[in-house]
Amino acid sequence: MIKIHGESAYFCRGNYLAAIALLTDWIYTYLGGLDETRVWGADFLIKLLIISFDAVGDHLFEELLRLKNFAAFAAQCTAARGVSSVFLTNTYPVHASVATGLSPGRHGVISNTEPFPGAFPRWNYHARRLKAVPLWKAAHSAGLRSAAVLWPVTGGAKEIRYNLPELMVQPGQSQLIENMREGSRFMQLRLWLRYGHLMNGLTQPDLDNFSTACMLNILKSHRPELAFMHWTAYDTLCHKYGEESAVKEALPALDKNLGLLLNAAGDGASVILFSDHAQIDLKHEILPNDILVGMGLLKKAPEKGYEEGATYIECCGGSAFMHPGRAGFDMLKEIRRRIQELEGFERFLTTDELLECGRPELPFGFCAKPGFSFEIFGKGEKGQHGYPRGYDNYGVFYMARGQYVPQGRSVSGGSLLDIAPIAVRLLSDMGHRLIMPDIGAAREDFFGLH
Ligand SMILES: [Zn+2]
Repeated sequence: MIKIHGESAYFCRGNYLAAIALLTDWIYTYLGGLDETRVWGADFLIKLLIISFDAVGDHLFEELLRLKNFAAFAAQCTAARGVSSVFLTNTYPVHASVATGLSPGRHGVISNTEPFPGAFPRWNYHARRLKAVPLWKAAHSAGLRSAAVLWPVTGGAKEIRYNLPELMVQPGQSQLIENMREGSRFMQLRLWLRYGHLMNGLTQPDLDNFSTACMLNILKSHRPELAFMHWTAYDTLCHKYGEESAVKEALPALDKNLGLLLNAAGDGASVILFSDHAQIDLKHEILPNDILVGMGLLKKAPEKGYEEGATYIECCGGSAFMHPGRAGFDMLKEIRRRIQELEGFERFLTTDELLECGRPELPFGFCAKPGFSFEIFGKGEKGQHGYPRGYDNYGVFYMARGQYVPQGRSVSGGSLLDIAPIAVRLLSDMGHRLIMPDIGAAREDFFGLH
């Protein structure tokens, strides 16, 4: 039965959709579309599975190796340790960089949300935001069928045949209806009907358990060649409780779901696993737009942050960006001076950093010291990301297994931009040629000699 949750809007509306889902699931199951007891032959094997451990930094790698499924997987992989994320180190820009092999400045998804000073900015979840070719588009052109579950920036992606996109809805919108609009309609209805009971609103690790069940079902029933899985338990719990609690609760849950997914994918599947950014524990959230309020450049608005205006500071956690509006040189100079005096101010961003994160037109950006973040309103969070690369315990990792990837080995350094070329290479080794003209070859030290 469908369960109605207080926190989530998944099933708050549209009971008629539940009836359609029930009917769809019945038809699908009883007309032979899905038999979960069926044992597939070798043709079941997925070619490439790409898994995201959201926010699990490289400094947790030894902790991960204590977990059974992760340790067994690591023994089959080459791992890249001490890897740089891309700036801005927030989930949507980074996942778009992993999918395209390009920096946010080049692929166009420069932030999780649209730059707006209100409390409920629109999220950049739609694939049309990408100005570059993502892996799923190149795979589609090569005749491969893709699946994605809660992968960022996949809303409306026509090239993903089996798509349950991660969508952040606005207040008053129905999650279910928006997902129907932007993902695989009947497949999602069927999955929500079957596995909706695993969710408890958007709490974690329940949401990851739901998304894992969905992916297992998609692998078994549709047999896609390429699949994208995004797990967010660690990120959610770290924001809410800080790193110590998140390590205890989220890592075992990630390991359990990893074991289930690898088992379903089969030993012959190539797999890439990565973390998008780390998190840093917070002591204090700073509201830099209050500087503009004090200067009469912006107005506070009850329950939604600030009134819409042309002059504001876009807050992205560990970093923030000045949108000048009509503020002139002297005014900006004064704003800069006041920002520098903020407790928790680390430094202004460099020209290269502004270029990389797609904001060369802005007069300046700045970043927070570890333990501080820049926000539109106080959220009371215990962990945050969005900082420039190079902070302590802020590196990431990636790892891969495949036909020509040496096992149980690690290499040092690199960037998350390496992942798309590695994915292209792994699929090429299986006879599938993906064309992504803007990216280079896979790093040589990751692959053994043929
Ligand atoms: Zn993330």
